[in-house]
Amino acid sequence: MKAIGFYETGGPEVLKEIDIPEPMPSRNEITIRTSFTSVNNLDILMRSGGTKMNFSLPHIPGTDISGIVEKVGEGVSGIQEGDRVVSSTVYGCGDCRQCLSGNEVLCKSWKVLGMHVWGSYAEVVKIPSFMAIKPSKRYSMEELGCMPLSLSVSWRALKVAAKAEEGETAIIFGASGNSGLFSLMLAKAMGLKTIAVTRSEKKKEPLKKAGADHIVMYNPSENGAMQNEVLNLTGGEGAEIIIDPIGNPINSSIAMLRHGGRIITFGTSANPESSLSIKKFYWKSASLIGVHNASAKELSEAFIFAEKKGIKPIISKRLPMQEAAEAHRLFSSSETFGKILLEHKWK
Ligand SMILES: [Zn+2]
Repeated sequence: MKAIGFYETGGPEVLKEIDIPEPMPSRNEITIRTSFTSVNNLDILMRSGGTKMNFSLPHIPGTDISGIVEKVGEGVSGIQEGDRVVSSTVYGCGDCRQCLSGNEVLCKSWKVLGMHVWGSYAEVVKIPSFMAIKPSKRYSMEELGCMPLSLSVSWRALKVAAKAEEGETAIIFGASGNSGLFSLMLAKAMGLKTIAVTRSEKKKEPLKKAGADHIVMYNPSENGAMQNEVLNLTGGEGAEIIIDPIGNPINSSIAMLRHGGRIITFGTSANPESSLSIKKFYWKSASLIGVHNASAKELSEAFIFAEKKGIKPIISKRLPMQEAAEAHRLFSSSETFGKILLEHKWK
């Protein structure tokens, strides 16, 4: 079968067509014939070597997946060949207390599709069957191919970690990015007041359409214009929730946080490290919560909520898998607004 992968880390040009044997499902596993995937920051980090983790080469990236169940292993129930599915993004050891209680994301041996194992830039992908979700037919395969990672992590950040409540205010950093956009749409649908933060003037208008009540230009300095603007917008109080997929300096975030507020962090593209003023932190009774991925159960709940509220992904570009390098270039140029979809169409 065909896949796009890389034998060495580097620029988009390292992505090559690779022939690999089709995986066969073991007990409690299934294989999915991939219809669509989409480009996530994780794909870029893996390809460029930016994760700083050790992994064997060649590697096949790709965390999002929509497709059709190809083969079902022994012991699998509730999923059949031919089912239309998406996959959650993370699995654990399968045996620990967290895995057995549906919190695989908290397993100490967590692994992510396309990161620790080969992902959806391959024609056929093997996953533990519990990761497969049969979503509503109201979503097209194209839409489904760009939802799992961004939707589920945004859901976990807002619902599970921040315990967002209607009427609260959420600041969303990197609002025009994959998870930022889903966080914005989910927050709006949850009845939150939304302050979207972006680096690009050009993204202000589409962000407004996507649900931003206010838009603030990114400026990470601790006493800068961004903080003043947020404080003005919140009557001097700050926001209850900060959703941070980029790694804004933590003291700058605390400066914009209301007393008792929650900062949820799940990315480091702006800053891998950040120093924390412990005094400012506890004087505000602040909470800082890390999130990576979400469980299959959470993805399922997120889909139900998204469908009920009419949330659809914004797709900016659709390319064949053979043009994955171009898709990576586009993603890194930040010129697009919305997801970059990759279609498996070989012959
Ligand atoms: Zn486990």
